[in-house]
Amino acid sequence: MKTDSLKLIQDLSNANGISGFEDEVLEVARKYIGDSLDVKEDTLRNLYCTPKNQIENKPVVMLDGHTDEVGFMIQTIKNDGTMKFIPIGSWFAQNLGSQRVRIRNSDGDYIKGVVASKPPHFMNPSERNTVIEITGMVIDVGAVSKEEVTQKFKIEPGAPVVPEVTFEFNPMNKVMIGKAFDDRLGCACVLDTLTQLQGSDLNVKLVGSLSSQEEVGLRGAKVAAQTIRPDIAIVFEGTPSDDNFTDASIAQGAMGKGPQIRHRDSSMVGNPRFIKFARDIAKKENIKFQDAVRENGGTNAGNIHLSNTGVPTIVIGIPVRYAHTHYCYSSYNDYTEAVRWAVAILKNIDKDIIAEF
Ligand SMILES: [Zn+2]
Repeated sequence: MKTDSLKLIQDLSNANGISGFEDEVLEVARKYIGDSLDVKEDTLRNLYCTPKNQIENKPVVMLDGHTDEVGFMIQTIKNDGTMKFIPIGSWFAQNLGSQRVRIRNSDGDYIKGVVASKPPHFMNPSERNTVIEITGMVIDVGAVSKEEVTQKFKIEPGAPVVPEVTFEFNPMNKVMIGKAFDDRLGCACVLDTLTQLQGSDLNVKLVGSLSSQEEVGLRGAKVAAQTIRPDIAIVFEGTPSDDNFTDASIAQGAMGKGPQIRHRDSSMVGNPRFIKFARDIAKKENIKFQDAVRENGGTNAGNIHLSNTGVPTIVIGIPVRYAHTHYCYSSYNDYTEAVRWAVAILKNIDKDIIAEF
């Protein structure tokens, strides 16, 4: 493993991969891993990463991060050369207008386009006051006909589309800016945690799962959990920040205030005993964390904790401002603290503690 964490996050963030098209993300992961871990891929594009020479007959810990990002898919190419598209994962239509995107063509090259809608000049007064739905938007690559799109640009229905955004890091405040921090930060956490624990004498066996298709219904992790059959699991997520929409006194996902532990969301009630163990470790190690009690939302933990005979699972989140938009902001310190937390949990956990969960 040669690259540092920030470079890994940069490469993962820049990689293109809506649900079902995670190949580029796996390429970045494979390059980072080199031959330091054993890797295996299944047909859903889940990548299993296992440290070498682990002793069998120890409880298995699944470390999960999802590889897919929210994006779009080309649905129809219209005669005027614009393209209708559908969202992959959850988007708010108002965040899309005039944003740039990149579309993968049938050669695997990326064509840049813009999300366009009817110009204000042609809107009647009621249209001006109406939120434009995604069904009323098109992607325009600057073509003038369907033939130009299909023949010159080689774009076909079914083509995946991602935000046209490049990762940046601001050293002044250690804030990262880029797309797909949900959940490429989680993928980096999985790889970083496995790297930092290389050669450690643990009382558990680790399996990293870079899981596909979370944004369309936690699908990859469902298969991954059946494959790994973990005894416990830690899910790393790029979780939505609420700090600039909520009163500071009640915000639970403030950027820069440490990783979150999620007590509850629509997909899971976190295992309270495992959560207590993780919180106690954080306090002992002076890791600042935030407690998240979410009304909505869900993560891969939703499927993992219900797999096999049931799996005690926790979710560690790195707060992401503006998740599910083009531009995400996250604190690099929150990221490194999330990894430090996971490493400390794994160094301290054993069969007897797990038996109490
Ligand atoms: Zn996510």
